[in-house]
Amino acid sequence: MTSQRRRALSNIASRKCEDKGSGMEKPVTEIYGEEVFNLKTMKDFLPKPVYIKLLNTIREGAPLDQSIADDIANAMKRWALEKGASHYTHWFQPLTGATAEKHDSFIEPDAEGGVMMHFSGKSLTKGEPDASSFPSGGLRATFEARGYTAWDPTSPAFIKRGRNSATLCIPTAFCSYKGEALDKKTPLLRSIQAVSKHAKRLLMALGEKNSVRVNASLGAEQEYFLVDKELFMARPDLLQTDRTLFGNVPAKHQQMEDHYFATIRPRILSFMADVDTQLWKLGIPAKTRHNEVAPAQFEIAPVFEEANLAVDHNMLVMETLKQVADEHGLVCILHEKPFAGINGSGKHNNWSLGISDGRNILEPGSNPHENAIFLTFLGAIIQAVDLHADLIRASVASASNDHRLGANEAPPAIISIYLGEELTEVIESLQKGKASGKAKTGGFMHIGVDALPLLPMDTSDRNRTSPFAFTGNKFEFRAAGSKQSCAGPNMVLNTIVAEALDEIATKLEKAPAGKRIVELQDIFISIVKKHGRVIFNGDNYSKEWEKEAAKRGLHNMKTTPEALKCIVSKENIKLFEKYKVLSGTELHSRYEIFMEEYHKTIMIEGKVGLNIVKTMIFPAAVKQQAILLENLIKLKTLGIKAGAEPQKKNLELVGKAIEDLSSLVSRLEKGIVSHDTASILKELVSARTTVDALELSVDDELWPLPKYSELLFMY
Ligand code: ADP
Ligand code: MG
Repeated sequence: MTSQRRRALSNIASRKCEDKGSGMEKPVTEIYGEEVFNLKTMKDFLPKPVYIKLLNTIREGAPLDQSIADDIANAMKRWALEKGASHYTHWFQPLTGATAEKHDSFIEPDAEGGVMMHFSGKSLTKGEPDASSFPSGGLRATFEARGYTAWDPTSPAFIKRGRNSATLCIPTAFCSYKGEALDKKTPLLRSIQAVSKHAKRLLMALGEKNSVRVNASLGAEQEYFLVDKELFMARPDLLQTDRTLFGNVPAKHQQMEDHYFATIRPRILSFMADVDTQLWKLGIPAKTRHNEVAPAQFEIAPVFEEANLAVDHNMLVMETLKQVADEHGLVCILHEKPFAGINGSGKHNNWSLGISDGRNILEPGSNPHENAIFLTFLGAIIQAVDLHADLIRASVASASNDHRLGANEAPPAIISIYLGEELTEVIESLQKGKASGKAKTGGFMHIGVDALPLLPMDTSDRNRTSPFAFTGNKFEFRAAGSKQSCAGPNMVLNTIVAEALDEIATKLEKAPAGKRIVELQDIFISIVKKHGRVIFNGDNYSKEWEKEAAKRGLHNMKTTPEALKCIVSKENIKLFEKYKVLSGTELHSRYEIFMEEYHKTIMIEGKVGLNIVKTMIFPAAVKQQAILLENLIKLKTLGIKAGAEPQKKNLELVGKAIEDLSSLVSRLEKGIVSHDTASILKELVSARTTVDALELSVDDELWPLPKYSELLFMY
């Protein structure tokens, strides 16, 4: 073991958990949301008429009345100053996939040598950051480098604290000079509008009142790894690529199934408690925390919220995990596949549609009217997913997620829907128009006439292999990557479902009110007939499913470049333009940005891998060779035969590996020079084979990289 590794391990061993064991300092109810300019705070700080107008914007999506912007800004400033803030920032989500902020202080010199604290309605509603260094995919010519950030009143402002700072963060959308979206929030907001509009139309066609509003909801379960900071720092691959490019799975990894839901170690629990506290202060409803399947893997899940807010909150969850880990001498890894041969991390995207009166459209009902609504929306989703599986797949495409999808631990790249046996049976009997023994009324089953028979209200599915599973009252999309923003997948879901709802609503609206239920039956049956192929309740990890899916004509796009192409297909541009979510130009720019990101990621991995091989592994192998050689020469000089043969064999092995490494280096270099990502990926895999074999034969004292057994178990 190298001295660096040894030091790290001894520091871990002597670490003490400083938990006092006294629980929270203040009750959760007292700290919850204390850093948020939420409705309650607004009510306290705003004149009543202003509060009512703003509430109207937040709840009903009414355009913001500019005349109240100054009042709101003033109230926000007073609140933020009371909280100790000195700066404000428009907080946005550029296409890098991270969040961005540029802080401005509130100060304004008063011409007498002092300052006043100032914040105007204009500064609240509009910002003009220099956008030239954010990816735009050609949308923004350099001569108009200005980008605009525009306040999103539906996601409340909050205070972000550093050790000695407090900054008022205002969630914003980020657009180019001409109003083209340069971020992830803008199209998400547009897609929510589209799905709300058509869901409402359909509800009204089904007899609901005009006053209902529909919003998409999201609960994002977040998986992550924690690794000791000192060990992490000794791995250039983790530092630079967020994943290990080399390393053998240790003898004991996850096969004992002893990590999942196991007792949480004190150091980790102390970390988790700090994460929860910070999130609660930010008004983020962190609910669940537990050990995950892989060693050193964990999960945090919030209570679901309106999709736009939930996406913002998930971005803050990821940021908080990273920051708090650092304070605890840990590093939080959000990469989808940081360790080969060990489970990767995903983000389960739980999605549904909620009605303003508290009902959930995806909750199977207990009366015929509710069932009609449920089944109609279910039909819409089946149609949407089948028609646009390509877009769903594209929405989770990234260099890092490619390592996980289809690797027998995460859903495959084939997008299908799991409905569960019972629901599938109901659908089949509806389709066949056959007698269903289970229908309450007996005889034939009809939408909107029969209550759903014996539907398990708590369909928690035990089939964890489906990428898109109905789980009782929501769909759980499981292919999303752990480090991705949820904005993309939800933007796609909302848009494709909006299209299906629009189509069904248009048909229903044409039928006379009395005939709609019959019409509904026909629509549903024809949807299942056309799109039922996308339903699959079996084992998604199996080879048979891959074959079966191919027979059914379903996509199976294994790599990001393959998956991304559909973003700019003619039909998909038409779809996004029709629902005013993204224009053709915006889609083309996104395609370019995502491809470039993929390309850059692999180039970086190639260079890091090359460097590690050349400067760490190769020298270690040579040292090993030298030790063996020296010993063999001595043995020979003394005429000792015993023990010489095995050392010679080892010498051969190491010599061969040195040769392999050197030819690998030249192939990798070639791939890098010619920007050939496919070749780089291939060479990285073969480098791994050689390096990992060496790891098993080189003296542990000489091995330069912390091993998996250390990274995954020493914390
Ligand atoms: P699991 O999937 O691990 O069994 P749960 O079913 O309890 O866990 O919920 C997982 C996530 O789904 C949580 O974040 C939860 O808030 C969210 N969720 C529950 N109901 C809905 C819903 N109607 N819409 C969106 N998300 C929901
Ligand atoms: Mg889940």
